Amino acid sequence: MLVNLSDVLTSEGRQVRKSADLEMTSFECRTGSYGIIEKSPVSFLFTNIEEGKARVEGNVRLRFRAVCDRCLTEVPVTLVLDFDRVVAAPDVETEEEEIDDLSFMEGYQLNVETFVYNEMIGNWPAKILCKEDCKGICPKCGQNLNIKDCGCDTFVPDPRMAAIQDIFNAGKEV
Ligand SMILES: [Zn+2]
Ligand SMILES: [Zn+2]
Repeated sequence: MLVNLSDVLTSEGRQVRKSADLEMTSFECRTGSYGIIEKSPVSFLFTNIEEGKARVEGNVRLRFRAVCDRCLTEVPVTLVLDFDRVVAAPDVETEEEEIDDLSFMEGYQLNVETFVYNEMIGNWPAKILCKEDCKGICPKCGQNLNIKDCGCDTFVPDPRMAAIQDIFNAGKEV
């Protein structure tokens, strides 16, 4: 959805509230693809700051389908995005550091999908865990170690030692 900001960008003191529905059904990023289970409308408050510039405030609440990085149990991720940005009209001269990345602006129009996507990227958790001390799954048998201990011998003293042990074991088979 495109929201036309030409009025708010050009009229001094103008303030506009707007609610927009998100079209995207999933969030794609470096770590994978996450289906959106719930989404609130995006609520915007646009305020003219000066000729050609406006402040974009607002929020959206989203819930994504995701799994724990360690044990693969389903754990929905909730993002409550509160944003506050400054946008400029395409013909306005701006100083680099004053204005954020405006890839979501198409002329005088704000692309809601791109705008929210940028906010998601900036707020996506670095790690998704079902709980802080998740024990993960056993690398040998796949047992979820939060549920029970499988008793497998998975003790690796040191990865470098393990590599030497592999060489040693391979040598024995010859
Ligand atoms: Zn987990
Ligand atoms: Zn095991």
